[in-house]
Amino acid sequence: MTAATGVDFFRSGALPAPVVDQAAAERIAAAQFGLAVHARPLGSQQDSNFLLTASDSTVLGVLKIANPAFSAAEIEAQDAAAGHLAATVGLRVGTVLHGPVTVATASGPAAARVLRYLPGGPLAGPGYLAPAVVAGLGTIAGEVSRGLRYFTHPGLDRVLQWDLRHADRLVARLAGQVRDPGLRSEVQDAARQAWSRVQPLAAHLPRQAVHLDVTDDNVVCRTRDGLRTPDGVIDFGDLTTTWAICELAIAITSVLHHAGAEPCSTVPAIRAFHQIRPLSFEEAAVLWPLVVLRAAVLVVSGEQQAAIDAGNTYVTGALDRERLMFTQATSVPADVMTALILDELGFGHPPLRVPAGTILDQARSQTLDLSSQSDAADGGAWLIPGLEDRLAEQVLASGAATGGAGAVVTRYGEARLTASRTLAEDSPATVATGVDLWLACPAELTAPWAGELTSDGPDHIVLTGGGLTLTLSWSGSDRAVPGGGRPVPAKARLGTLAGGSRLHVNLRAATAPPMPPLVRPEYAPGWLALAADPAPLLGLPPTLGRPPTLGLAPALGLAAGQGAAEDLLARRDASFAAVQELYYRDPPRIERGWRHHLAGTDGRVYLDMVNNVAVLGHAHPRIETAVSRQLRRLNTNSRFNYAAVVEFTERLTARLPAPLDAVFLVNSGSEAVDLALRLALAATGHKDVVAIREAYHGWTYATDAISTSAADNPNAVGTRPRWVHAVDAPNSYRGRYRGADAYRYAPEAAQLIAALAAAGRPAAAFVAEAFYGNAGGMALPAGYLAEVYAEVRHHGGLAIADEVQVGYGRLGEWFWGFEQQGVVPDIVTMAKAMGNGYPLGAVITSRAIAERYRDQGYFFSSTGGSPVSSVVGLTVLDVIRDEGLQANAARVGAHLKARLEELATRHELIGAVHGSGLYLGVEFVRDRGTLAPATGETWAICDRMLELGVIIQPTGDRMCVLKIKPPLCLDAAGADFFADTLDRVLTEGW
Ligand code: PMP
Repeated sequence: MTAATGVDFFRSGALPAPVVDQAAAERIAAAQFGLAVHARPLGSQQDSNFLLTASDSTVLGVLKIANPAFSAAEIEAQDAAAGHLAATVGLRVGTVLHGPVTVATASGPAAARVLRYLPGGPLAGPGYLAPAVVAGLGTIAGEVSRGLRYFTHPGLDRVLQWDLRHADRLVARLAGQVRDPGLRSEVQDAARQAWSRVQPLAAHLPRQAVHLDVTDDNVVCRTRDGLRTPDGVIDFGDLTTTWAICELAIAITSVLHHAGAEPCSTVPAIRAFHQIRPLSFEEAAVLWPLVVLRAAVLVVSGEQQAAIDAGNTYVTGALDRERLMFTQATSVPADVMTALILDELGFGHPPLRVPAGTILDQARSQTLDLSSQSDAADGGAWLIPGLEDRLAEQVLASGAATGGAGAVVTRYGEARLTASRTLAEDSPATVATGVDLWLACPAELTAPWAGELTSDGPDHIVLTGGGLTLTLSWSGSDRAVPGGGRPVPAKARLGTLAGGSRLHVNLRAATAPPMPPLVRPEYAPGWLALAADPAPLLGLPPTLGRPPTLGLAPALGLAAGQGAAEDLLARRDASFAAVQELYYRDPPRIERGWRHHLAGTDGRVYLDMVNNVAVLGHAHPRIETAVSRQLRRLNTNSRFNYAAVVEFTERLTARLPAPLDAVFLVNSGSEAVDLALRLALAATGHKDVVAIREAYHGWTYATDAISTSAADNPNAVGTRPRWVHAVDAPNSYRGRYRGADAYRYAPEAAQLIAALAAAGRPAAAFVAEAFYGNAGGMALPAGYLAEVYAEVRHHGGLAIADEVQVGYGRLGEWFWGFEQQGVVPDIVTMAKAMGNGYPLGAVITSRAIAERYRDQGYFFSSTGGSPVSSVVGLTVLDVIRDEGLQANAARVGAHLKARLEELATRHELIGAVHGSGLYLGVEFVRDRGTLAPATGETWAICDRMLELGVIIQPTGDRMCVLKIKPPLCLDAAGADFFADTLDRVLTEGW
């Protein structure tokens, strides 16, 4: 290699930043560039940087005094590259404004220039980076890489310590600087192994001009709707010609020190980069080893720089995060990450070739389905410790009795719900990298092919041969086995497996790392690419046709469309009207619920804080039993005379005060409110209706007409029919009247009602949620309903309480929302909780009002009040009573509210905590004075909560309130998990 024309780290050694103090920087700015400024030092490892501000605080630029070791050509190259990118790529770029000029520093003459300051701030700091932000970093790196592809300059010829082409010799040279001997040898080993994976492919890696420092520190963001998006790049000081892939490797390494980040967190950046500047197979194959090398380089360089420049707080402060990046980069075997990246970018991985042969000959076997869709998981059985062994025993016992299965086998690549955990912020390891087998009778195990046999005990055997490693373990773990095996021929006897005992079989590439029996779903495509299905060695067909989990289809050689979450979404888009929106842009596939938990098909279990309809909890066994029993007997309509509908309506009226004693049964909240309106119109002969702004009452023609929630229909207020009159939303937190002034809403509403009557259009009804659910569960102002109900009745109208969302015990202290207001409505509507997810709704009014419906004909709903509907309704009421769910809502709700109120004392974003029982709302504001709604933040917080295992969504007209309305069986542990997770998100970022 000829000597570089620019700096050569291996000749010059360490490059401490030039010593320039603040006063000197201000003098340079004035003398060289005519700028009268205040200079504030900014951190840098090898240069000296200052933020220059004028006396009116306007930022004029960044003064950069380059390391004296850098030549004029190098500085020129950097400025030219920045200018080139600014002109050709749609990014903001930190181009040069003034200079360069040569100035004297205590470290010698150095190039000084003023660079453009890009407002918005970098991604620096330890905070969480959302996948979209990580993707933004990848996009910037991709744009820079594509933009610099044909950029050439003599000043690019330099030898930098950051150039990963030199990473092996750099680590060799500087490892001695790492004071902790344990860390030192880890860094050396990891770098050596990574280098051994890069070197054979080095000749195939394209080279070009590379910024070499597109990191969290050097991308700047714009902020839109409270969320940051990287859109600019600064600091071209490390520009050089090297492998193009270094741009991405360096960018994604910088993700790894952020809160909650782990190797798979970098995937959005890899994907984004690949879209702009496609990676070759070789580049994809060396990417993760380069990440490991980058992290190793950072650790050794940081230690060296700290040793020689102990006063540089930027350097010393960086040591912890450099170690964290290294720990994360090596937390997953590099080969697994490489396989994951290849899979992600569509390069695939050739399947392992497994020669014919068997470990044991078995008679009939039965497959044990441990997925989230398995019947064996019903009734919460998946939470029982040791369920897998127990199920296998049962199958074998019944096989022994009936001459059936002599063996039980699990599925390779299956995400096991049995391996999951509830209330877990990290996804548990659920995906099987091998299979487990239980035999009814003892059996001989034989070598399927010739190989080298190693064993560290009678329960753990490893056979290596033909490029494969086969592990048979009785204890379930794939622990390392001492080297030095003995050769064995095919069919050699390996041992005897006792009847009833469990054998774990793993088959992997001989070069692959030892495999845990279960791995986390995020990494499963990486692990499984290095493994193979051992089923054929057990005389079984390969595991095909099983429900694959998260995007595992390609890794398993399965045809696309066999059930991964993404495939299902594509099918949904093709057949289901798109106006029916989903929770989440990237939703998990959920096929099972249990109590207040929802299980993804990848085995991840989420805390469900949204499903108010599933009031008893998901999959309640009493509902299932009662419904199936009734379905076996009779399901017809309410024109027949059967007991269930009578018992149900008796039970409902018993829950309501006089004179509410006449029940109509329908199938949804919309139907219930629609019917209530028709009843009011029929009973009063009036044609107009008064409703509250920002409310939602349903999708039917009439209920939609009285719904003015902007969240459901942004044009709602301006498009109401003439018969609908909206009064102000009585929001005591952010409405026109706040706090103690909220008493003013009622007289205003009464005034409107009186004015309507005076104008000859008296209202048939005033309709409102009795507790303000759509605003996030806010109590109406004291006395509000009493005053408004009195006025509407005064003019011959009726009071309708919509209890669809808030009624049925959720409020804890009150079964119905109107009880909180101390009023009795004329008509009450209910749904949601009534059926625990089964479609059920009701309107309850007085006999006198109900009778007036006759003027319109008679009422009939084909399925409203059917025997099954009635049984569901009865059972829901029974369970609410028997399990004390209203009292639980009061107790757990009070605990949760207190926890959330405590969070509000520490997190400015929380403007208020609303609600009662298990209908709570956490309202996020950007400013507690202006109450500017933090809408973008709320959506992002919900996405981050999902990552951490919590399902929660925004509500309200501004979509800035977390609506907390979980199944009423939520316990204190669940409430604490929610509060702890929210605390973490508000602390780490979203
Ligand atoms: N009223 C209120 C207060 C509601 O919240 C809803 C549903 N969100 C409805 C009526 C309509 O109920 P459904 O979706 O069952 O038709």
